[in-house]
Amino acid sequence: MLNWIEVCNEELAQAERYFKRPIYCQFALDKTQGKFPKKRDFAYTDGHTIFFSPKIERAKESRVRGLVRHEICHVLFMQEGTPHSETDADLLALIVFGEPILYDKDLIQNTEEGRAGRPTSLPNPFS
Ligand SMILES: [Zn+2]
Repeated sequence: MLNWIEVCNEELAQAERYFKRPIYCQFALDKTQGKFPKKRDFAYTDGHTIFFSPKIERAKESRVRGLVRHEICHVLFMQEGTPHSETDADLLALIVFGEPILYDKDLIQNTEEGRAGRPTSLPNPFS
């Protein structure tokens, strides 16, 4: 099984190298029944901890990387108190990680499979 926490910590370390400062961010599983009702529901954050569905333990590495890069960018915006959209998180990820966030066949973030640009069919609230 993929060590998904290690993958997450690698991506966090990359963001810390980009910003040249520590970023307070933790990773955890949320095993609450019904918390991730849709197939593409994988992760969310409260601005300090990124919570993953237990599905993350069986996800491909490139999907874990895409998901966590997107969520780390939510964390960065939230810690600054900056309102932002889903697209904003992807655009920041392009800058911080040097690669676009792709959306794979299941419309889940990925670093190797899929197409750049958040599909317009997905929600994109300005939070
Ligand atoms: Zn998001």
